[in-house]
Amino acid sequence: NAKSLGKNRVLRYQHSQTDATQQHFSLEQDLRLAIGTDQLLLHFQAQYTLADRTLDGVEALLRWDHPRRGMVSPGEFIPLAEETQLIVPIGWQVIEMACRQIAAWDAEALRIPYVAVNISPLQLLQSDFVDCLNRQVDAAGVSRRRLELEITETLLHLDPDFAFQQLKALRHAGYRLALDDFGTGYSSFNRLKKMPLDRIKIDRCFVKDIGRNPKDEAIICSIIDLGHRLEMSVLAEGVETWEQFHYLAAAGCDSMQGFLLARPSTSPPLERPCQEEHALPSDSRA
Ligand code: C2E
Ligand code: MG
Ligand code: MG
Ligand code: MG
Repeated sequence: NAKSLGKNRVLRYQHSQTDATQQHFSLEQDLRLAIGTDQLLLHFQAQYTLADRTLDGVEALLRWDHPRRGMVSPGEFIPLAEETQLIVPIGWQVIEMACRQIAAWDAEALRIPYVAVNISPLQLLQSDFVDCLNRQVDAAGVSRRRLELEITETLLHLDPDFAFQQLKALRHAGYRLALDDFGTGYSSFNRLKKMPLDRIKIDRCFVKDIGRNPKDEAIICSIIDLGHRLEMSVLAEGVETWEQFHYLAAAGCDSMQGFLLARPSTSPPLERPCQEEHALPSDSRA
């Protein structure tokens, strides 16, 4: 009857709550133990110039190769790492691995212009972040121009004045700066105009319905125009079809990143991705 059903539901609910808490706790312990080991590794996804389809650079995307669970995606463990502040030591490991990869590619005579690294607001708001970064990058023998730091608008929301100060110091130190996931966060034009950025990245959510949603197209064209007028280059994220590719190229967007031309992987990026639409039969709408 209804009463026993309800009771069951409550019991099951409590049971799964406990499970979730324990799972969360053990994942946190596991993550703590993973820091400094090769369980944490980087995948790299190529970014290409839209006009000539040549390699711009690559974005480093963190992966966690958990001993029992296998690959855990950042969507799962980055929020946990931020809640627990583990993102700070993890972030240093990411920077170290990115620098090591740049040096390794250089040694193989592969010309990768830069590696973009995602920087959490918690990292950037550490008062000694710029000094520590300079020391680590210089010690690795990597030119600061070879690193692009991807920041998000959340940063500006937390402590705008200190964030601006940090960004200026980073730009001055020679790093490239990109604003990630643009259009989804808290930015105001007033903040954007003060930010010393090289690039803005249009979030995937505006790209995915190109060809179907004129409002998304209007937003994309406006971001491209805004970026250029503010003397920033503009990259579109999450490009999966040739229709999106051609739309963005015609709209004057500078660069793209997406599964269409490259997925994140451990292998070095191709300097020239496939040039032929026919090479990708999955996109039949063109
Ligand atoms: P993000 O920085 O915006 O990175 C782009 C995400 O979009 C990546 O997901 C990438 O695999 C995915 N992506 C790229 N092209 C396509 C496409 O064509 N279609 C679709 N559906 N997805 C595409 P990923 O690797 O799962 O990373 C998710 C987020 O985790 C990143 O978003 C970033 O915010 C965060 N993250 C990753 N690595 C790090 C890191 O080292 N440090 C910090 N703080 N955050 C990181
Ligand atoms: Mg990013
Ligand atoms: Mg992004
Ligand atoms: Mg995104």
